[in-house]
Amino acid sequence: MNLVVATANVGKLREFRRMLEPLGFEVLGLADLADRPEIREDGDTFLDNARAKAWPLARSLGGPVLADDSGLVVDALGGAPGVRSARYAGPDATDSDNNRKLLAELAGVPAERRTAAFVCALVLAVPGLGEVAAEGRVEGRILDRPRGEGGFGYDPLFLVGDLERTAAELDPDTKNRVSHRGRALRLLLPVLRDLGRGAL
Ligand code: IMP
Repeated sequence: MNLVVATANVGKLREFRRMLEPLGFEVLGLADLADRPEIREDGDTFLDNARAKAWPLARSLGGPVLADDSGLVVDALGGAPGVRSARYAGPDATDSDNNRKLLAELAGVPAERRTAAFVCALVLAVPGLGEVAAEGRVEGRILDRPRGEGGFGYDPLFLVGDLERTAAELDPDTKNRVSHRGRALRLLLPVLRDLGRGAL
């Protein structure tokens, strides 16, 4: 069964595909759709933004849509970049622009105060039925220089909790096992399984 995931972020899509394809879903991203409604992502919470991505698309397609809104929450920065993680260094910021800005903002902050978390809100919107939502979180710490080649976004700067490796140093299955996105998705699995066998 096809499952539309309301994202154009290739890093996120790669992770969703790896987690959802073994369940029998073929994952389609925004780039696979002919036309799509405009999405205004200006909510104050990850959950609001995930809803704002899921519902316009689910309504226009007349079918289920899974949406992810996620980001990095840094304690010493009062929760920034938070819901603005993708655009931290400006509207067209690249991952390296954002990472550079994060390091600049944290310059001089000692290791023990560089605590942070990745947060992911997922919403599965099913027209005519309703929605289910889940939030996942992984705690960690921001390094003072990047490490690792995998993942995307802030992964090279994020030292995962007890693993003592950055998210960019984890193999894809390990990242999915411990990540905010993997945790949120696991909470939705019973519903996704029902959806996949037409039992919703
Ligand atoms: P969104 O597309 O508005 O949800 O933006 C999410 C942004 O948060 C991404 O562009 C990344 O900068 C960051 N982010 C979310 N999840 C991850 C992750 O798993 N690793 C690294 N960065 C992430």
